[in-house]
Amino acid sequence: MNNSAIKILVVDDQPSNLRFLSELLTAQGYQVFRAICGQLALNAAIAHCPDLILLDIRMPEMNGYEVCRRLKSTSKTEQIPVIFLSVLDDINDKLQAFQVGGADYIAKPFQVEEVLARIDKQVCLQKLQQQLKEQNAQLQQSQSLLASVLNSSLDVVAAYAAVRNSQRDIVDFQLLLVNRATEKISDRPFNEIVGKYLLAEDPQIRNSGLFDLYVSVVETGETVDQEFFYEDDRDISAWLHIVAVKLNDGLAVTFRNITDRKLAQELLEASLETQTRYAEELTRSNAELEQFAYVASHDLQAPLGTITGYAQLLERRCHNQLDSEGNKFIGNIVNSCVRMQTLIDDLLEYSRVSRSQKKFNLIDCNLVFEDARANLQLAISKNQASVTRGDLPRVIGDSFQLLQLFQNLIGNAIKYRSSEPPLVIFGVSRQEDNWVFSVQDNGIGIAKQNYQQIFQIFQRLHTQKEYSGTGIGLAICQRIVDRHGGRLWVESEPDRGSTFYFSVPVPK
Ligand code: ADP
Repeated sequence: MNNSAIKILVVDDQPSNLRFLSELLTAQGYQVFRAICGQLALNAAIAHCPDLILLDIRMPEMNGYEVCRRLKSTSKTEQIPVIFLSVLDDINDKLQAFQVGGADYIAKPFQVEEVLARIDKQVCLQKLQQQLKEQNAQLQQSQSLLASVLNSSLDVVAAYAAVRNSQRDIVDFQLLLVNRATEKISDRPFNEIVGKYLLAEDPQIRNSGLFDLYVSVVETGETVDQEFFYEDDRDISAWLHIVAVKLNDGLAVTFRNITDRKLAQELLEASLETQTRYAEELTRSNAELEQFAYVASHDLQAPLGTITGYAQLLERRCHNQLDSEGNKFIGNIVNSCVRMQTLIDDLLEYSRVSRSQKKFNLIDCNLVFEDARANLQLAISKNQASVTRGDLPRVIGDSFQLLQLFQNLIGNAIKYRSSEPPLVIFGVSRQEDNWVFSVQDNGIGIAKQNYQQIFQIFQRLHTQKEYSGTGIGLAICQRIVDRHGGRLWVESEPDRGSTFYFSVPVPK
C-alpha cells in the first residue's frame, strides 16, 4: 500500500522514542512530523493537519490527555484520530485516554507489528469516515436537488409506503414524500404531513375510490394514467389527472387538478351538442317545409284550375246578365286566379330544384344560351332588346336547371329595363378553378343595401303595378347555383344597370 499521502504526527518527550518511531513509520512510507512536547504537538497539528497522531501520555508541562483534550476542542483538529502510547497500563489510564477522545491505546513497550497494525486500522477507519462524509454530502446535495425539482412542479407529487395488517392486506398508506404543490389542496404545510397515514388523516379518501385505486396499483403493479373524478361526503369534488406508479411496496402518485379544463370541455361539448341538434332540427324543418311547399303547390293546382275555368266561363257566358260591378268582380277573380297560378308554378319550380335527382352531364353553355334566348324571343322583340353572348365554355351540370338560370337572369335584365332599349351582354371569365359568368344590363339597377335581400324567396323591390313578378326567380337561381357548387352575387348601382355573376367549377 502506498502510504506517502498519509501524514502522521509523533509526539514524545523522549528523543530516542521519537526517533525510533519516526524512522519506523518513515520506513513504512508515511510522511512523519515530530513534536517533543505538548505545545509543539498542538502547533504541528494545526500547521500540518495530520491524518493521525501518536501521542505519549507522560510528558512534562502538558501531558498527553491535555493535548488530546485541546485537540478535540479545536474544530480544525477535532477529527484527527489520536492513538495514545504509554507505559501506564492501568485500566483507569486507558479509560481516561478514551474519555478525552482517544481513538486507541497502545501500552509500552510495544510490538512494532502491533503499532503498525493499529495505525493501519485507524488510517483505514479515517478513510472510510471521509468517504462516508463525502457520500453524505453528495446525498444531501441530490436530495435538495430532488426537493427543489419536486417543489417547482405544479402537479402534486407524493410517494407512499403500503401499510399492511397481519394478513398482508393493505390497510393504509404512509406518506414518505410530498411536494409543495400539495398545499394547494391541503391546509397544512407540506412538510408537516410527511410520515402521516392517508386514511388515518382523512378517512373520506376511502369513499372517493382513491384508496382502492392506490391499492390496485400496488397489488397489480399496473401503472394508472387516467382522469379521475374525486368526490366525497363533504361535498368536495374535483377532476384530477392521476398518474400512479408502483414503487417498492408502495407507490408514487402525481396528480393535477383539471377541473377548470374539464368544465370548459363539458361546456364546449354541450354547446356543440346543442348546435348539432339545432342544425338537425333546421334541416328537418327545412325538409318538411319543402315537402309542404311542394305538396301545397302541386295539390293547389287542380282546384285553382277549376276556379279559374269557372270564373272565365262566367266572364264569357254571363257577361250580359251581370251589371258592370258584377263584371268587374268576376274580372278581379280571374286576374287573381292567374296571379295565383303563376305563384304556384314558381313555387313548384323552386321546390323542384333541390328535389331533382337528374344526373349532371357535360353541357355546352352556348347551346343553353341560345335556347334561353329563343324562349325569351317575345320579350326581346317587345322591348327591342339586344341580347348577346361571348364564347361560352362547357360545364358539368343539369341542362334544364342551367336553362332556367340563364332564362331568369336574362329575363330580369330585360324586365327591369330603364327607358333605354335593354342591352344584355352574357359573358364569362376564368378565375382559378371556376368559370365566372356575368349577365350585364343597362336597366334600373339595385341599391347596395338590397343586394342580399333580392336572393331571398318572395322578396321584391317593386309593386305588381311597377313590375309584375312573384319574387321567386332569383331564389330559384340561388338554389341552382348552389346545387352546381358555385356562388351567385350582384354588382349594381341605381340607374347604372346591374351585373349578375355566378360561378361554376371548371370541369376536371
Ligand atoms: P321577381 O322578378 O319575380 O320580382 P326575382 O327573384 O327574379 O323576382 O327578383 C327579385 C327582385 O330583384 C326583383 O323584384 C327586382 O327588384 C330585383 N331584380 C332582379 N333582377 C334585376 C335586374 N336585372 N335589375 C334590377 N333589379 C333586379
